[in-house]
Amino acid sequence: MSHLDLEQLREKVDAVNLEILTLINERATVIQEIGKIKEKQGVNRYDPLRERHMLNLLKENNNGPLDQKTVDHIFKEIFKSALDMQEEDHRKALLVSRKKKAEDTIITINGESIGDGTPSFIFGPCAVESQDQVSKVAEAIGAKGLKLIRGGAYKPRTSPYDFQGLGLEGLKMLKAAADQYKLAVVSEIVTPHHLEEALPFVDVVQVGARNMQNFELLKAVGQINKPVLLKRGMSATVDEFINAAEYIIASGNSQIILCERGIRTYEKATRNTLDISAVPILKQETHLPVFVDVTHSTGRRDLLLPAAKAAIAIGADGVMAEVHPDPAVALSDAAQQMDLNQFDDYYDALMKFMKQYEFKM
Ligand code: PEP
Ligand code: MN
Repeated sequence: MSHLDLEQLREKVDAVNLEILTLINERATVIQEIGKIKEKQGVNRYDPLRERHMLNLLKENNNGPLDQKTVDHIFKEIFKSALDMQEEDHRKALLVSRKKKAEDTIITINGESIGDGTPSFIFGPCAVESQDQVSKVAEAIGAKGLKLIRGGAYKPRTSPYDFQGLGLEGLKMLKAAADQYKLAVVSEIVTPHHLEEALPFVDVVQVGARNMQNFELLKAVGQINKPVLLKRGMSATVDEFINAAEYIIASGNSQIILCERGIRTYEKATRNTLDISAVPILKQETHLPVFVDVTHSTGRRDLLLPAAKAAIAIGADGVMAEVHPDPAVALSDAAQQMDLNQFDDYYDALMKFMKQYEFKM
């Protein structure tokens, strides 16, 4: 074969490549049109029977030299590319996405603007245990001029034999304490059945890590007109977390605060592994405010301050941490809650850090 022949053949290959490129793009355009029609009809985009039919048609008409396995493989990739393209369109269209809404969502609760560029704080006990307990914590929070108190009344516990929370009675105690010091209540709801009875006593409904993919609960809190604090599931990817928020917003509630609370890894030095990089990722991908729960992520009192500094430095909209008047006798999370003196020191140190490095306050 002469040199010239080789050149000519290469040119021919280039021309064939371009022809294939034109054709697969033409195919993609047709698939997009089909996608639009299917969306209107509410039909599923992926249709295995249709794919089988297309592969059979190719097999009947394949005269070689490529064997059928190779042809199937190539066309499976072409089919997949069209589906991927539509998935990308859908991802861009998520209601929680920055691509959908460029401006930050700001949620104002009790005069506190969450997501406005200045960090917000949520403190309070792991669980509501008594009127006296929550009142002491509420007083300490109010004394700092803060606006929010947390406390679990319906506790999702690993063991059914552990303290399950005081339920509605506990919520009433928390609400009374909050009212006395002009605070708003953040509390977890674990089932749609409790929403109605709980709502008069709760200002921000927390959906806990164990319920991040409780889709019926997500849809239910999507129908209320109070903010939702959605915690990341302990084994949830960022993408799954974002989709959980999408359930809420798709049901009509756009007042969502995302909360990174650590994920399960092989590391045992901390209770969970604080996925600090999730914060800027969530800020980039969504328009929602992002909190960091330093208590449940670290599970260590000595790490609450460094973790909070990291959260603020990386751009979190706020920090959550647990405070109890006497953590040693707490009915849950005794090892990591701060007592009231530690709370004072912690808050002072954090404010000093923010001043020193000129964070907006
Ligand atoms: C909580 O904040 O009370 C709690 C139970 O946390 P998580 O759902 O993140 O475990
Ligand atoms: Mn706790």
